[in-house]
Amino acid sequence: MMKLQDCRYDGQKAFKLSDYPTSAQVDKSMRKDIEAMMAANIERMIELQDKFYAQGDEGLVIMFQAMDAAGKDGAIKHVMSGLNPQGVKVYSFKQPSKEELAHDYLWRAACHLPERGYIGLFNRSYYEDVLIVKVRELWRGYAMPKRCLELSEEEFFAQRYRQIVNFEDFLFENGYRLVKIFLNLGYDEQRKRFLSRIDEPAKNWKFSSGDVDERELWPQYMKAFEDAIGATSTKRNPWYVIPADQKFFARYLVSEAILDALETCNPAYPTLSADEVAKLEECRKRLDN
Ligand code: ATP
Ligand code: MG
Repeated sequence: MMKLQDCRYDGQKAFKLSDYPTSAQVDKSMRKDIEAMMAANIERMIELQDKFYAQGDEGLVIMFQAMDAAGKDGAIKHVMSGLNPQGVKVYSFKQPSKEELAHDYLWRAACHLPERGYIGLFNRSYYEDVLIVKVRELWRGYAMPKRCLELSEEEFFAQRYRQIVNFEDFLFENGYRLVKIFLNLGYDEQRKRFLSRIDEPAKNWKFSSGDVDERELWPQYMKAFEDAIGATSTKRNPWYVIPADQKFFARYLVSEAILDALETCNPAYPTLSADEVAKLEECRKRLDN
């Protein structure tokens, strides 16, 4: 069975998206077992998050990138079910507003970073700025000086990849850990999911004709993902390329990735000084009276 480590890419060799399957081909009979493993992971996440919050010296950002219908929302919902909402902040990166476009592209991500002790869930992220912005050539229309735009596409995005690596190093050196997840969905599976969004009235709201527009650019998107993941994976901030065709397994792997990050943080409840312990004892006495 495929493991988290099989999905991890830390930039040490060349990256080819086609080396990473969109399905782990887990037998359906395993589903109950996988779900039980996921429930156990969630239990452990609850314990660790409590300590993580209490300790409050590291921040964790879990980001999800994917084509439409890959299961970002479902994965986020499942992860959330295991965490204390008080310590979690979810933010969805939509099309940038006028105000956001008037800033550099990392600004809104910086604005929505969680405080230390919190877990931030990014539904999409600044990676949109090297994905849709590349595929749709949106950057060419940006209000930026000539010197920033008079570049080839390759040069422009090579700069952005470097800026992202630098930004992520900066975060790491300032107490943040990132869990970068690409839910790798197959082209055929996306078609099936779109059709069920059209066929089932309860799912209609999830569908927009724009999703089909992006689907028609599938090869360009896959190239953009491959280039972005290839250029921005480092030992500190690797990408996880998670097979997304089987939702139950993708969610399990996501729980593995988050748990792995929390275990690496290795949080502990703060210990009290002798003075503080003495104060607690004093309080106990006052409560006894
Ligand atoms: P869902 O459809 O499941 O509710 P979603 O993440 O697809 O979630 P939408 O509002 O449908 O949410 O899509 C947001 C859109 O905004 C996506 O098409 C995304 O590519 C686009 N987007 C995000 N960031 C940027 C950006 N910096 N520049 C241009 N487009 C962006
Ligand atoms: Mg959408």
